[in-house]
Amino acid sequence: MTDIIIIGAGTAGLTAGIYAARAGKSALILEATAYGGQIINTPDIENYPGIAHISGFDFAQNLYDQAVALGVRVVFEGAAKIADGGSVKTVTTTGGRLYECRAVILATGAKNRHLGLAREEELIGKGVSYCATCDGMFFRGKDVAVNGGGNTALGDALYLAGICRKVYVIHRRDTFRGAQTDAEKLAKLDNVEFVLNSTVTALHGESRLESIDVTSKTDGSVREIPVSALFVAIGQAPDNGAFADLIQLDNRGYIQAGENCRTSREGIFTAGDCRTKALRQLTTAAADGAMAATAACEYIDRL
Ligand code: NAP
Repeated sequence: MTDIIIIGAGTAGLTAGIYAARAGKSALILEATAYGGQIINTPDIENYPGIAHISGFDFAQNLYDQAVALGVRVVFEGAAKIADGGSVKTVTTTGGRLYECRAVILATGAKNRHLGLAREEELIGKGVSYCATCDGMFFRGKDVAVNGGGNTALGDALYLAGICRKVYVIHRRDTFRGAQTDAEKLAKLDNVEFVLNSTVTALHGESRLESIDVTSKTDGSVREIPVSALFVAIGQAPDNGAFADLIQLDNRGYIQAGENCRTSREGIFTAGDCRTKALRQLTTAAADGAMAATAACEYIDRL
């Protein structure tokens, strides 16, 4: 019997593990893919208090190492189901294994949103990518495009501008949601072109992506831009469907919870991007991890 099972080894989940372990509770993290969560895809982090600059990969690695050194167990299996037996909760993994615990913390994060264009799924890995730091190097010296106007898109564009010949930044509005400082850095680069008030409307190429159609929202004109890669950075969507029968989700699928990280069900807590919140950042994910773990420890002590 583990005290706390944490679902998801991103920033929120690993931080929850650190806080649980330091409070003397046993913690098991179930992770369906790789530890680190979304931040491993961010080339440069410059807004985490106390760390002026670090790569997303190094940040995730440090966090993982810190949790494991404190005794947190990480098992690489997805969580398929939670059965709530009151003071004992059972988590069934996608591999069919059962784990019992006193409290659960859902830190499932969010997954990359797709554009929904024809041929998008077929061209993944053949020019369509959702991770510039993972795939950018394959397009060294080539012309590429980034779609989106948030922090991910701007960070991706800055990274790609350093290795690609030309980077088109395609955004559906004329102002960016992401950090002004990054937008200003991009505007100064000779090999970056902003294509604003525009959306990507078609993907072309025989066996690989060769060009994209970009449609202007201003006048409806269509421009075909030859690119070897399109990096889609249009945000994330939560993936909490497996728990919908147990806890309340909002109409977009995020777990209903406030700053205290309590879900609608006793003994089940949530942390990070998977919950309803106004600001999804590393800092807020880490803060949630601390809050959820502390609340879970208090809950267990009251049992
Ligand atoms: P985001 O902030 O939600 O931005 C998504 C962008 O994609 C927005 O510019 C949005 O346009 C655009 N978009 C959404 N749906 C679209 C569609 N169907 N077609 C075309 N464009 C579409 O997502 P994100 O940039 O991935 O960031 C997610 C969270 O992580 C944010 O809170 C962000 O601040 C945080 N983050 C932080 C860091 C960091 O701290 N270093 C790095 C990366 C991400 P509109 O602007 O018009 O809505």
